[in-house]
Amino acid sequence: MNDNTFKHGRSGYTNHGCRCDECNFATSEYQRMYRESQAAAIREQRREHRATNRESILERRRVNYRRNREEILASNRRWRESNTDYLDSYRQRNYAENRAVILERCRDYYASARPQVLSRIQSRERYTRGSAHRLGQQYSQADDLILLNPDLSSLEAALLLGRTVSAINQRRRRIRRALVTA
Ligand SMILES: [Zn+2]
Repeated sequence: MNDNTFKHGRSGYTNHGCRCDECNFATSEYQRMYRESQAAAIREQRREHRATNRESILERRRVNYRRNREEILASNRRWRESNTDYLDSYRQRNYAENRAVILERCRDYYASARPQVLSRIQSRERYTRGSAHRLGQQYSQADDLILLNPDLSSLEAALLLGRTVSAINQRRRRIRRALVTA
């Protein structure tokens, strides 16, 4: 029931604090139209805000990521798992279209990160050499089946099977060659 002492609509909403259907509707319509007409200006404003506050935005994201790391990773995993087809086709398309750029970027990365990459490889090797208890032993069929699991990293496989990372990589190459020539 509208109170008739004032005119309902946008002025009823702002000047009289009225929240009747007519006032709500007029106001939300006005806001929608305003937003649409301002969309471009708002986008530009946000872009500027992001540009001038780049560092603090990144820092906030880093803090948020550290605080909610497990949750974020789990939610990303869930998304990937329910969008595998989309991801596969996206990757294939992206790789086909940007092959040269991607390879160039990989080369640049390895060129600049070579010392870090090498030291990571060496420290993994040292770590697994210390814990390996089956050095030089033959691989069983069960071992090879474990090595065929692409979700298992070389480090995980090495720790699981009591081998070094380099031994695991070598064995994996051998299995792959055998599969290709079989
Ligand atoms: Zn009203």
